[in-house]
Amino acid sequence: MITILVIEDERAVRENIIELLNIEGFDPIGAENGDIGVRLALEHVPDLIVCDVMMPKVDGYGVLKALRSQPMTATIPFIFLTAKAAKEDWRQAMKLGADDYLTKPFSRAELLDAIATRLEKQAAQREHYQTTAINQVATTLNSLDCYDSLTKLPNRRWLREQLHHSLPPADNNQQVVPFLCLGLDRFNRINDNMGFAFGDLVLCSVAERIKNCVIENDIVVRLNNDQFAIILRSINQKKDAANFAQLILDVLAKPFNLNGYEIFITASIGISFYPSDSDDIDNLIKQTSAAIHDAKRKGGNNYQFYTKEINIVISEPLALENDLRYALEREQLNLYYQPQLDLRTEQIVGVEALIRWHHPKRGMVSPGIFIPLAEEIGLIIPIGEWVLRTACAQAKAWQVAGHTSLKVSVNLSVYQLNDPNLIKKICDVLNQTDFQPNCLELELTESILVQNPEAVSAIFLKLKELGVKISIDDFGTGYSSLGYLQQFTFDTLKIDQCFIRGLHKNDTNAAITKALIQMAKSLNLEVISEGVETEAEEAFLRQHQCDIIQGYWFSRPLPVEELSKLLKKL
Ligand code: C2E
Ligand code: MG
Ligand code: MG
Repeated sequence: MITILVIEDERAVRENIIELLNIEGFDPIGAENGDIGVRLALEHVPDLIVCDVMMPKVDGYGVLKALRSQPMTATIPFIFLTAKAAKEDWRQAMKLGADDYLTKPFSRAELLDAIATRLEKQAAQREHYQTTAINQVATTLNSLDCYDSLTKLPNRRWLREQLHHSLPPADNNQQVVPFLCLGLDRFNRINDNMGFAFGDLVLCSVAERIKNCVIENDIVVRLNNDQFAIILRSINQKKDAANFAQLILDVLAKPFNLNGYEIFITASIGISFYPSDSDDIDNLIKQTSAAIHDAKRKGGNNYQFYTKEINIVISEPLALENDLRYALEREQLNLYYQPQLDLRTEQIVGVEALIRWHHPKRGMVSPGIFIPLAEEIGLIIPIGEWVLRTACAQAKAWQVAGHTSLKVSVNLSVYQLNDPNLIKKICDVLNQTDFQPNCLELELTESILVQNPEAVSAIFLKLKELGVKISIDDFGTGYSSLGYLQQFTFDTLKIDQCFIRGLHKNDTNAAITKALIQMAKSLNLEVISEGVETEAEEAFLRQHQCDIIQGYWFSRPLPVEELSKLLKKL
């Protein structure tokens, strides 16, 4: 609803305007003098202000001056009302930044017309401002390096952005494209024994040999430290892919003569096929990594095809999988909570629930390992529900203990979003734990939004109806087309840790973070910076008006008792 603040000392005029605005479906607030007007404007941040010029003590000019000097109210459309029609008044009002000027007596139609014009202009301006800010972020993100500085090969970012341009459409099942991942066997030993500079030299030589094996249309990418991906657009037979993998192994097996040393390198290769195994780049990497794992387990220096059964062949994940099935009922899962510090008030405003698995033999297993596994075997649905229930119940307990408006953030997997019962489950949890919906924030990563925008949009609307908040996690790492930002209604943007790392001394990270904060502000989103590890990073974020920080610098994720202590201290 559109809120309009009416500041007018003459009671009859004020009430008349308020009545008219009520009838027209606005949400009017009345103020009987300038002082009250300024206070209410700062408190409610209305969408528009109608203000009388001639008032005792603080007059209309005083009100306008006070509000234009505050960032919250600086751009609110402002319409003056006055009995005076002198040119000087009009000029003074405009000079101070008023948007329109109505001379009393004015008709209802004149007032409504002036309001409608201002609101339209404001909406257009806001949209322009948002689009500019979004485009700036998109340009900045796009300008990030897509090439590995060491080997000059394209990197993982390039692969994410370019792959769909380089491959045939996924529905064209006739054509399969082999996707190979190559990991060097025991590469750490080279770094450990010979130093990183020598390790870099080896990587460059390996890259060179791989490049010499491919032809023009094929793609070689450096995925990370000692992993490379090869996309063979010139081959579409399984047999040929196997021959190629063997060729690479043979070429790499020849000794390398570097800096007077002769060294031997072997590699393990995993192979899967686009699109028959998957049409998603992250999935292809996951599958081929599992196949590499399998190849390494068989002694290295060989290749393996990805198969659905590969997880069964690899003993580790299988054992984990079996254990995970019992983890919930054996109460091996628990939640840690990482506090979020509001830089404006120095208060802990929320906590993020982060799952932990205390495995009886392995000790703590990181969610980075078992969440993908839980997703793959469907366990993420019961686990996710347990997380939601436990987090809401715990946050309720903290609220009852006196932290009345503490919020809790819960990470949601894309599999949960596809669960047709998701909304019902959330309602049930909120009811059973007696937890206020607006204190629950669900964290989703941006890749979820682009995968199925219509379905996601519909779920977002339902969540909004419930009053639950939504935040976009790990923002900036996924997709450089940000068109979806204006399309979805969400509340919070969490800047990914990779941009926060050393941002006070890294110009690129500083530029991206500044642009992200500005963009979030233009979209009226709250900004949380994740992974803040140092005082210098915090100082930078404070200086650039980031709202909230989360990271080891303020606090690591903590078990319930420790977080309770921290809450008591503040
Ligand atoms: P996330 O949601 O982006 O969570 C933030 C991760 O960053 C957490 O890792 C946290 O411990 C870590 N972190 C926080 N501050 C710092 C810092 O200053 N420096 C560094 N280096 N790291 C910091 P964690 O707990 O290992 O969780 C990893 C990811 O696993 C989470 O990333 C989230 O995507 C997922 N996850 C965790 N709990 C759940 C859950 O209950 N459900 C689902 N679906 N996913 C979860
Ligand atoms: Mg998160
Ligand atoms: Mg995150």
